[in-house]
This record gives sequence, C-alpha cells and structure tokens, in this order.
Amino acid sequence: MNYDSLMIHYGELSTKGENRKMFVRELNKNIRHALKGMNAVTTFDHDHTYVRFEGDPMPIISRLQKVSGIQRISLVYKSDRDIEKLKEDALSLIKLEEGKTFKVNTKRGDKTYPLQSLELSRVLGGQILKNTDLKVDVHNPDITLNVDVRKDAIYLSSHTYMGAGGYPLGMNGKVMMMLSGGIDSPVAAYMMLRRGIKIECIHFAAPPYTSDAVLDKLKDIVKKLNVYQESVKLNIVPFTKLQLAIYQYVAEPYCITIMRRMMYRIAERVARRHNCVGIASGESIGQVASQTLDSMVTINNVTSFPVIRPLAVTDKLDIIKLSQEIETYDISIRPYEDCCTIFKPKKPKTRPKISECEYYESLFDWKTLLDECVENVNAIMIKDGEEVDFENK
Ligand code: ATP
Ligand code: MG
Repeated sequence: MNYDSLMIHYGELSTKGENRKMFVRELNKNIRHALKGMNAVTTFDHDHTYVRFEGDPMPIISRLQKVSGIQRISLVYKSDRDIEKLKEDALSLIKLEEGKTFKVNTKRGDKTYPLQSLELSRVLGGQILKNTDLKVDVHNPDITLNVDVRKDAIYLSSHTYMGAGGYPLGMNGKVMMMLSGGIDSPVAAYMMLRRGIKIECIHFAAPPYTSDAVLDKLKDIVKKLNVYQESVKLNIVPFTKLQLAIYQYVAEPYCITIMRRMMYRIAERVARRHNCVGIASGESIGQVASQTLDSMVTINNVTSFPVIRPLAVTDKLDIIKLSQEIETYDISIRPYEDCCTIFKPKKPKTRPKISECEYYESLFDWKTLLDECVENVNAIMIKDGEEVDFENK
C-alpha cells in the first residue's frame, strides 16, 4: 500500500463565512486548470479538496504549490473508520517512513466517532509500538502520523507541503501591472497573483530607442506568469513622442519624475477602460532617485486611483531570490534598454516638488500626446505560454 490522495487545506478561506462557497468553487476551478493533463481526479467538500492520483505525486504537488488560495497539501491515505482496518493501515504507512521516533496526532472532525482523539491516538500508537522498533517522542518526533477523522473515512498522513497561501485568483478583482523589463516588476506581479489578484500588464515602449528585444523579453516574462494566471494581456504603449516632448520642455532633473507622472496617467486611463480596480508597480522605497518617498508622493499625485506597490519595503536581495524562484530572474537580467534607462538624466531630483512638475507640464501640450498614447495601445494576449490571436483590443 502507499499514499493515494492529496488533501488540500484552504487556509485563510476558512475565515470567510458567507463568501466561502464562492471561494471554494473558484479555487477548485483553478485547481482543475492547474492539473489539466495530469493523472489526477479531484473532488471537494466544505473543508477540503481531495486529489486522487496514481504514481508519483510530486509533479502534482509542485503544480498545486503555485495555486493561490491553498495553504497546505497533505499526502494522505484514505483509510477506514473500522478500527481494525485503521490499525493495520497506520502500521503499514509508518513502515514506509524513515526515523527512530514517532507521535500520533488525531483530529476528530467528525465528533460522532466513538473514540475520542486521545484514545484513538493511544490505540494507534500502541499498535505501532508493539509491531516496530520505533519509540514515542511527543516533542520532536522523526515521524508524525496525522489521523483525520471525517464522516466518510479516516485519512492518514505524515507528509505536508506548504502552499502559496492567499486567495483564489480572481476573487479580488484585477489590477493593471506596470511591467518593465527589470527584476522587480515581475516579482511584484507574482505577489499580486499570489494574493489572488488578477493582472493585466502595461509596458511603455520608446521605439526606436528601445528595441524589439524588450518585447521578446516581456513576452517571456509573461509566459512565466502564466503558471499563476492562464492568460495575461500585455498592453504596449507607444511612448516615444511624449517622452521626446518631455525631454524637450522639462529641465533635466525633473524628466524622470514627469515621465513617471505620465506613465501613471496613462496606466490609469487604460486600467479604467479594462475594468481594473487599481494599478500596481515594482517600486521599492529608496532603491533609486525616482523611488524616494518624496518622489513617490509627487508622482502619485496625478492619480486618485489605488496604486499598489507590493515591494515597497522589500529588500533587493529578497526580491532577487523570489525572481529566481519564479524563474524570471534570468530573463530580467538579459541586457535591454528601458525607456527609463535610455533617457536617464545625470542628476535626477530626489525630492521633486509637485508645483515644479505642474510648472513644467504647463509648458507643452502633453494632453494631446497622452491621448495618442492611450488610443494607440497595442494589446497582446499570452495564454499558457503562447501568444494567441485575440480580438476586442
Ligand atoms: P524594475 O526592476 O521592475 O524595472 P527598477 O528598480 O528598475 O524596477 P524603475 O525603472 O524606476 O525601477 O521602475 C520602477 C517601476 O516602474 C517598475 O518596477 C515598473 O513597475 C514601472 N516601470 C518602469 N519602467 C517601465 C516601463 N517601461 N513600462 C512599464 N512600467 C515601467
Ligand atoms: Mg527598471
């Protein structure tokens, strides 16, 4: 015998009372999508989702670990409520494990079961002590046999894997993610997705100053994000004309600030048009001149739309680690020219003032140029790692 199922624990969902049914339904839809093409059959009840599998469970587990809304995944064997059968199964399972000490941990989800939790732990523990060389250690055991008493069966497990946590994707609306070709923004996108927030991406391109290689890079990044969201739209904004105007009319130290104010204005317009409830970016406080708190306040002043900065207080080293985990790091470090880096001023203002920005913005007709950017957005859809045709841009 061996483990034959996975038991998925919902985590934070359990606190959601009324909305629970919807959460569970949404999560199960996402689970089925994640396991498409695998030898796995899913069922669910009020508390858990079960996945019956054949063969090696690890590929299934690693896919499930990327589904937001899952807190833990236990490798389980579905045993019987009959005590003799249960004793036999518990013994067989513990013999599969390596170690010298053990403990039995019983959770009685079904309170009508005739044995109390402690009694059941004792009976099973006795069976194991009698038939193996294992010793009991309740504080720091090598093996913990978890016994979950439920109405339909009793589940035995001793391996648990952490899930991504958060909420099922789609439960918390959609945001417009500002995606550059750098390390930070893909990680910020992942943080949003992990929380169950859907994304659409927006990128500001300045051809011919930025090359098509940037576009390939962005597509490769989005393909990695498809692991968490089946299809992701990437909106490319033709930013060159507006950017050149900025460099013509604005004093150099203010160029980056004004450029970013324009980015936020455009992002908000496209976001509203596409039913997004906010904007997200990969900004991190203090990382560069345009990301001091003062700078962020001055930039943010152009929008009343919610702006989420998941990495605001995250350390660069932690960001890099996450980008390696989600496999975007190697793509992000490919050399490229971002519209920010090409026009980089020598001495950007670290404490830009709103009044100064407004003065520079009064010097040219940015509104017409901005309208042009919004009207000429080119949208690409990337689904399951492939660029797909789509209408209705
Ligand atoms: P990243 O590593 O994400 O590029 P960064 O540390 O290089 O970030 P900036 O270049 O100042 O920092 O950009 C800060 C954030 O602004 C980015 O994380 C991204 O969300 C957004 N951003 C910057 N450039 C662009 C762009 N060309 N298109 C879309 N968003 C951008
Ligand atoms: Mg960047």
